[in-house]
Amino acid sequence: MKIGVLALQGAVSEHIRSLEQAGAEAVAVKKTQQLSELDGLVIPGGESTTIGKLMQKYGFIEQIREFSEAGKPIFGTCAGLIVLAKEIEGQEQPHLGLMDITVTRNAFGRQKESFEIDLPVVGIEQPIRAVFIRAPLIREIGADVEVLSVYNGEMVTAREGHLLVSSFHPELTDDYRLHEYFTQMVRQSKTGESKG
Ligand code: GLN
Repeated sequence: MKIGVLALQGAVSEHIRSLEQAGAEAVAVKKTQQLSELDGLVIPGGESTTIGKLMQKYGFIEQIREFSEAGKPIFGTCAGLIVLAKEIEGQEQPHLGLMDITVTRNAFGRQKESFEIDLPVVGIEQPIRAVFIRAPLIREIGADVEVLSVYNGEMVTAREGHLLVSSFHPELTDDYRLHEYFTQMVRQSKTGESKG
């Protein structure tokens, strides 16, 4: 099982380390040609406008859409969540638009730009350690989207079939259980099992 981390900008090496700790083979993805050898893809945090522009420049938008159409799992964290969303509130920026959610960028306000909490997540036994940095919020979800965690009444982790998103950074701690959850999704998609 091989999982790629989109390496255009953002927290790439941290995701690679967490994926490896979760038992997957992980590689940095810099070229669209690499996608064909992957079973799953992580889109990291960073700056969503930059990631979106670079994805467009290097032809990743079409290629990742095809990757998703093939049912291959994608995990977007923070800026990665933003570029996966169908709609980014109040903004037109290049993005994938694959997941049926509407998001607001930098939604926690100034005092709360960056913080760390223990967050319960559906499907993971004990709360996970979550680092929020100028995080986005999921404002609206489509009928097929399952909310996996809520913080202060706001949706911060969600799944729609083979797509997983978190508005925080799970890769900046030693807690790799959300990566384990994702590698499980990848394993199941590879063996053709349904979601479980
Ligand atoms: N604020 C960033 C954006 O809007 C996301 C921050 C992050 O990925 N930590 O793209």
